[in-house]
Amino acid sequence: MPRKNIYVTQPSLPPLEEFVPYLEQIWSNKILTNNGPFHQQLEAALCEYLGVEYLSLFTNGTIALVTALQALRVTGEVITTPYSFVATAHSLLWNDLKPVFVDIDPASCNLDPAKIEAAITPETSAILPVHCYGNPCAVEQIEKIASTYGLKVIYDAAHAFGVRYKGNSLLTYGDLSVLSFHATKVFNTFEGGAIVSPDAATKQRIDYLKNFGFADEVTVTAPGINGKMSEVNAAFGLVQLKYVSNALVLRRAIEGRYRNALRDVTGIKCIPPQPDTEGNSSYFPIFVTSDFPLSRDALYQWLKDHGYFGRRYFFPLISNMPMYQGMVSARSDNLPVSNMMADQVLCLPIYPDLEHGIVDEICKLIREVSHG
Ligand SMILES: *Cc1c(COP(=O)(O)O)cnc(C)c1O
Repeated sequence: MPRKNIYVTQPSLPPLEEFVPYLEQIWSNKILTNNGPFHQQLEAALCEYLGVEYLSLFTNGTIALVTALQALRVTGEVITTPYSFVATAHSLLWNDLKPVFVDIDPASCNLDPAKIEAAITPETSAILPVHCYGNPCAVEQIEKIASTYGLKVIYDAAHAFGVRYKGNSLLTYGDLSVLSFHATKVFNTFEGGAIVSPDAATKQRIDYLKNFGFADEVTVTAPGINGKMSEVNAAFGLVQLKYVSNALVLRRAIEGRYRNALRDVTGIKCIPPQPDTEGNSSYFPIFVTSDFPLSRDALYQWLKDHGYFGRRYFFPLISNMPMYQGMVSARSDNLPVSNMMADQVLCLPIYPDLEHGIVDEICKLIREVSHG
């Protein structure tokens, strides 16, 4: 039995002393927000670290998603995945857009590119895919469909901080990519987020939109929102960024340990490592299939009884939530793979400071109730 409960994630915090000089600077210059010096430094530092050209910080990932849809003037219907955190689809409802759910590919848990075209109608103006668990979407195929039908592509990249695909940042695909820096994510600013843009003009429009639409002191260009990140959050991000490379190394080691220990457990499936990808090990989902003696919920409970708290990400599916379930595309016969994955998934604890002994203990408990 562990001495304390172990949760699916635990936020990383850098040494407190390193944060103090930043706070002292804020106290002396009295710049608390509105594109202050730490905000500007963090935008530059993230562009450098992530390998992107233009990035706008936000107060959180959800407001960033809502703003990204406005920045591209998306209208009508948007094709998206039901297998995500609820903020993905909610960002559409906040813009009066209609989500059209398309099923996922079990090999990545991302939108199945072969099923996208059938969901396109004259009302479709965009695709909002999610790089689920940091696994790259079928970016080339999605790009091809989008250019054939003249659709915008906004990636919900909340899980994809630092992921590289074919040697480049995954965030350079699509018209825009949206990041979350929430406490539970690989890189956090307590609360925070960002939009990655392809050019200066798009970044400028986004920067106006996140500041009520102000272009200058007297010019308001659009009904923008308040999506600004404060100086305290930006300063914290600058401190965090020094530790994120090491955090990724530690995460990958934990992922490797789980994969190895669970490799031959009958009825437990893992998502295979993705081709051409340097991942971020942001999550470690397992899928409890009918070949396993226990149901997913029974295994979840068994681990919980021993103090190990997994999370059923993503369950319930967005398409089965009350505000979506009446839509035609939300019907479970349209989304068989998503429904199956949601019923089988259990994300195991993974975070940089997780001791390897605990990973071993969790795997031992799973093996104990397996057929061997
Ligand atoms: C965390 C998350 C969001 C929302 O980000 P916040 O910063 O919490 O608002 C959106 N989409 C996905 C897939 C997420 O995991």
